[in-house]
Amino acid sequence: MHIDVITLFPALVTAIEEHGVVGRAIQAGVVSLQAVNPRDFAEQPHYRVDDRPYGGGPGMVMQYQPLQKTLAAIRAKAPKDCPAKVVYLSPQGRPLNQAAVRDLSACPQLVLLCGRYEGVDERFLETYVDEEWSLGDYVISGGELAAMVLVDAVVRTLPGVLGDEQSAEQDSFEQGLLDCPHFSRPEEVDGQVVPDELLSGDHNKIARWRLKQSLGRTYLRRPDLLKNLELSQQEQDLLTEFLTEQK
Ligand code: SAM
Repeated sequence: MHIDVITLFPALVTAIEEHGVVGRAIQAGVVSLQAVNPRDFAEQPHYRVDDRPYGGGPGMVMQYQPLQKTLAAIRAKAPKDCPAKVVYLSPQGRPLNQAAVRDLSACPQLVLLCGRYEGVDERFLETYVDEEWSLGDYVISGGELAAMVLVDAVVRTLPGVLGDEQSAEQDSFEQGLLDCPHFSRPEEVDGQVVPDELLSGDHNKIARWRLKQSLGRTYLRRPDLLKNLELSQQEQDLLTEFLTEQK
C-alpha cells in the first residue's frame, strides 16, 4: 500500500515513519508513506498556498491551484489503472470508525489531504476529494494529526503488520464489541488479583470469560454498539451472567 499525505508541515508526518507499528511496516515494505508539500508547487515569487477568505472574516484558506498541482504530481507517479482514493481529514466529515478503516485499508493507494487555517477552498474539495473523515466532534489546528491517526489505524490492519495475526481482530470494534480487560504479572498487586479464569490454563474457560467481559463492558460503556448486533443465545446468556455478577 502507498499513502501520500498532502501537508504544509511534512515533518509532522515523517515523525511516525521511524516508530512503532507504522515504522516497522515501512521497514518491512508493507506500506510506503510520502509527505508532499503544496508549497513545492506554489508559484514564485512568494510561493503562496493560502489567501484571505472571500466575504471577509478571520484566518486564511488553502488555495485551489497549489493543491491541484500537488495532486496532479502525485497522480503522475501512480499507476494509471488504479487511481488513488483522495481523503480529506475534516471536522465536517463522517466520524472515523473501524469499519471505515477496514475499507480504506483495502485501497492500494491513498492520498490524505491535511487542511490548515480555516480549511481548504471548497472548489478543490468538490472536485477532487472522494471521502471526508473526522476524528470526532472537536476542532484541531490541522489535519496532520488526524491523518496520522488514520495511517496508524489503517496500517495495523494490513496483513503481516502486527506480530500476532489475531491481535487486530480481537481489538475493540472489530467484532462490534469493546475488547475485554487485560492483566499481566504479578498475579497480585496492592491486594488486587487476576481473575481465576485467566489463571486456569483452560482455553475454553478463558475464551468464555473474555467474551463475557467484552459483552458486559460494551453494555455498560457503549450500549449504542450493542444495538447494532444480533447476539446469539450464548452471548445473551453470558451478558445476563455478567450483569448478575455485577449486582
Ligand atoms: N474552519 C474549519 C471548521 O470549523 O470546520 C476548521 C478548520 S481546522 C482549524 C484546520 C484543519 O484541521 C481542517 O481543515 C482539517 O483538515 C483539520 N481538522 C480539524 N479538526 C478535525 C477533526 N475533528 N477531524 C479531522 N480533521 C480535523
